[in-house]
Amino acid sequence: MHWLRALPFSVMTLGACVSARDPRPPHPPNVILIVTDDQGWADLGCQGASSIATPRIDRLAREGLRMTDFYVAQPVCSASRASILTGCYANRVGISGALTPSSRHGLSSAETTLAELARGRGYATAAVGKWHLGHLPQFLPTQHGFDRWFGVPYSHDMWPFHPDGPKPWVDLPWMRGESVVAYNASPSELTRACSEEALAFVRECAATQQPFFLYLAHPLPHVPLGTAPRFAGTSSYGPYGDVIQELDFETGRLLDTLEELGLTRDTLVIFTSDNGPWTPYGDHAGSTGPLRESKGTTFEGGVRVPFIARWPGHIPAGRVSSAPAMTIDLLPTIARWIEAPLPELAIDGVDIGALLEGALDEPAPRPLFFYYETNELQALRYGRWKLHFPHQHRFTDEMPRASGGQPAEYPVRGIELALFDLARDIGERRDVALEHPLVVAQLRALADDMRARLGDSLTNTRGTENRAAGVVDDER
Ligand code: MG
Repeated sequence: MHWLRALPFSVMTLGACVSARDPRPPHPPNVILIVTDDQGWADLGCQGASSIATPRIDRLAREGLRMTDFYVAQPVCSASRASILTGCYANRVGISGALTPSSRHGLSSAETTLAELARGRGYATAAVGKWHLGHLPQFLPTQHGFDRWFGVPYSHDMWPFHPDGPKPWVDLPWMRGESVVAYNASPSELTRACSEEALAFVRECAATQQPFFLYLAHPLPHVPLGTAPRFAGTSSYGPYGDVIQELDFETGRLLDTLEELGLTRDTLVIFTSDNGPWTPYGDHAGSTGPLRESKGTTFEGGVRVPFIARWPGHIPAGRVSSAPAMTIDLLPTIARWIEAPLPELAIDGVDIGALLEGALDEPAPRPLFFYYETNELQALRYGRWKLHFPHQHRFTDEMPRASGGQPAEYPVRGIELALFDLARDIGERRDVALEHPLVVAQLRALADDMRARLGDSLTNTRGTENRAAGVVDDER
């Protein structure tokens, strides 16, 4: 299979920045997993943003590894988060789309989350920010391995004051554990509040010398936007840029706190986003740079996100990798680092720790990635090649640019079978299927195998390995 050979993986090493590997044997690190909401691939200085300043996150990238071809498993909130926390394609665990305040389902108690693995190893565990894997009591973070939780149960636009007009939704609860502590908190307070909670948790763990796993899922820059007053108007990008700059500042505070507590070298810090930007919101949304389309689509703009990992002494500093990887890989990777067993039920992710630790001459752990939207298998990537199957999608690239926080209407269009060479065509513009019939045939065969396992509603294929979400009437 000649087309398998010339994979585009490369790791560019910036010699001056590389730190020596720590001679000490690895020991389980603390883990901080920062996930922003709807942040675009291009919305960091280190990812090419010119009108949004992110000096602290850029520095984090210089001190660790930045991956240019990092993916979420689905381009929308709940499905993406299910994959982050379980290591599974979201449709394997029965979660799709974005749950709403009227949803009666959530992440099943049969699934094993990263928090449960960490807690099993004696870690203190905290979820801070947006959950979105079920707002009913049996689905909350405290039922999925987190000792504590402080945040919103779903997106903060799911309240009576939706930017798109009034919605029949209840007041938005702000929760601590399983109790509501406030309703309808201003978006301008959310980033700071999450940051304060994260800092308090880290300080408590340091004081008790307990290892910790912090899942810091900032509700922003998802709309509706807001910042603390000091950040308003600070970015020439507009309100969205202001939000990113506040997130950068608060990320810096967290990193400074680690340093103050002497925990920098003992802590793995990961920074990523749950899906691409919600571009119908115009200047209230981020940018995909050269990538096609945005949130809600399986084009690169919907599923490719920023990714940075820093663990001094174990992840060499100053590298940029174009090896593809996905959020489903985080659970098995972190599981090995914290010496936790893998979940008993099947997962989809693989351990990419060797790649992160700098084993540059090893082949990519798994060059094959599937892109589902709900239960539609819309595309897959193998190495440099990405094949789209015929499907309908949001067509966002040529919308008029909205402003002021109101979304533009986006048309829906269809794409026929199309093959793109991501090594030459990052924007998925030139269909080369006719030039590479063997590649198309091989990728189709790989897709058929996946359909048999996880199904595909585009082809009315039922999978044999799908598991059910938790449904309220089925549990307790
Ligand atoms: Mg999102």
